[in-house]
Amino acid sequence: MSDTSQLDQPNMPEADSFTQLLADIRQINGTAQGYLPLHAPVFRGAEREYVLDAIDSTYVSSVGAYVDRFERMLEEATGAARAVVCVNGTAALEMCLILAGVKAGDLVLTQAVSFVATANAVAHLGAEPVFIDIDPDTLGLDPKAVAAFLQTYCEPAAGGCRHKATGKRVAACVPMHTFGLPCRIESLTEICKAWAIPLVEDAAEAVGCSVNGRHCGTFGMLGALSFNGNKIITTGGGGAILTNDAALGERAKHLTTTAKVPHKWLYQHDQVGWNFRMPNLNAALGCAQLEMLPAFLQEKRARAAAYARLFADSDWKFITETEGSVSNYWLCTVLARNRAEREAFLEASNAAGVMTRPVWEPLHTLPMYSGCIQDALAVTTKFSDRLVNLPSGYQG
Ligand SMILES: *Cc1c(COP(=O)(O)O)cnc(C)c1O
Repeated sequence: MSDTSQLDQPNMPEADSFTQLLADIRQINGTAQGYLPLHAPVFRGAEREYVLDAIDSTYVSSVGAYVDRFERMLEEATGAARAVVCVNGTAALEMCLILAGVKAGDLVLTQAVSFVATANAVAHLGAEPVFIDIDPDTLGLDPKAVAAFLQTYCEPAAGGCRHKATGKRVAACVPMHTFGLPCRIESLTEICKAWAIPLVEDAAEAVGCSVNGRHCGTFGMLGALSFNGNKIITTGGGGAILTNDAALGERAKHLTTTAKVPHKWLYQHDQVGWNFRMPNLNAALGCAQLEMLPAFLQEKRARAAAYARLFADSDWKFITETEGSVSNYWLCTVLARNRAEREAFLEASNAAGVMTRPVWEPLHTLPMYSGCIQDALAVTTKFSDRLVNLPSGYQG
């Protein structure tokens, strides 16, 4: 904060003490007055042209040139051998888990600091999430905590890993790149390899993020992206599966498109498939949005740098990318000193038309996931009270 003296008082600061900070946030976002949203999509590229072209072609549904074009563009942008677009990010993640072999009764290691979809994708398969702590620097799954959990509570079993107390199989590990901050994915990859646990990245928030030059979502067996309206680029609703295994990519395409055997007129299906296809209309929007990605990333990173300067001498910590990683700064995030200060800031900022939002309620506290296996979740608990997202959208 520019004026930390007022925040040094031990009690809850008065709303007034945020006046300067809110003015600075407005200035950074180029919005002197009026409502400043957390994040909103902008369409200043070829969006209109491509969507109208899709309409004119009459291919607005599950077949069309933009679906293929968007998949090839995603492969180019991420370096993945295969990208398969889906109806949304949750469906993409669910299909990743299916392809990784997750089945009813299995356990899946993941983080409690995430959007609910991460755990829902696991639960939809009849599997159970196991919540492991996050790393304080990246806000993503902590490799040390994962290794400790595996060493203490698990044992190698035929072709994989078993949780000793329940006898259940640990069928996958799903780290998430929180708010577009790459997690310690290289260490997680090594641990999962050593324990023969398939790694599936929830890269829903990580379009444009990389670690040592490699795009997030391409480290594990499979990765899932989201193009929901509030994400870094949008298709309205949509998602994608990434994989470097071409055969697995073909299976993903087949299973997400009703497992239809290609034929000019025959309707033949060789398995129980899913209708997880992204419509061509949405893919048209996606092609135009992906063309904008480099400009979006530049804008995002400039804003993050400005926030970093704003909070440099503050008691509040602006969360930045760690060495070797490139963040898309999807949602800029600051760690308040304590819960009281965060709540006061949420009140003051939202009352002043500057939208801010606390981090998600950690998943292990939600009623449907409260009984799940978890570690001590020390950082998760401490940080969930203090993290807040700042306005991070694009300028008109
Ligand atoms: C957005 C998001 C999803 C789900 O994506 P949808 O496209 O909204 O279904 C999954 N995981 C995380 C972490 C997300 O942020």
